[in-house]
Amino acid sequence: MENSRVVVVDQLMDNYAYLVIDERSGVAGVVDVAEADRVLHAAEREGVRIVAILSTHCHFDHVGGNDELLAALPPGSVQVFGHRADAERIPGITRPLEDGEDFALGAMHGRAIFIPAHTRGHLAYYFAEAGAVFTGDTLFAGGCGRIFEGDAAQMMSSLGRLAGLPDPTLVYCGHEYTRRNLEFAAMLEPSNPALAQRRREVDMLLEQGGRTVPTTVALEKATNPFLRTQSPELRASVREQIPDVGDDAVSVLAATRLLKDNF
Ligand SMILES: [Zn+2]
Repeated sequence: MENSRVVVVDQLMDNYAYLVIDERSGVAGVVDVAEADRVLHAAEREGVRIVAILSTHCHFDHVGGNDELLAALPPGSVQVFGHRADAERIPGITRPLEDGEDFALGAMHGRAIFIPAHTRGHLAYYFAEAGAVFTGDTLFAGGCGRIFEGDAAQMMSSLGRLAGLPDPTLVYCGHEYTRRNLEFAAMLEPSNPALAQRRREVDMLLEQGGRTVPTTVALEKATNPFLRTQSPELRASVREQIPDVGDDAVSVLAATRLLKDNF
């Protein structure tokens, strides 16, 4: 971690952008830009030069600031990453990526992880050395994104890939939805002690004006209902509300997502 640092930049009502800073070269990549001015301010304050935009997916609250940010920086100095399937929907894209493709950010190495379902071209950006992953609107702290352009099986496999990263990996997601996500989680697993403790910690953090990012892969596995489709308590709660839910994990995830859509 000593060679890198992540700076959180508030965007819009509850979005997050992130500066991923390589301390060795003084350059940064920015994950998702909605409001370019706030990102530029943060880069100036941190004394870093933005050389890349890492777009997780094409939604306006994640790429709406791409053009303005590019216009404010020297022409040709910024690479714009995104998934190939979303190339036409990501403003300014210069480097369409496939699953598993590696890229450089200063002296850092990043890797694209293809995680479709929220959109058909959603990417996570994983920095193994820094132990950090940027998950956009797929894996949230305590929840997951809506399934707009895929199905529950796809969401399950996308979430599974993120949950398969090392336990201590820091997870930086696209929105501050944590309190509400955990409220929903607690309805399904009222006896989960890790969840109860996390809710207390999150409430305290937010009361102090803090943010609930980053979380970790380990914490998500212990408390996030969308990673806990095997939990007997969760399954019983889901079945109480949707009696004909199937026994397989994908059916449980689909039903959990449906309940959350209406929560
Ligand atoms: Zn989105």
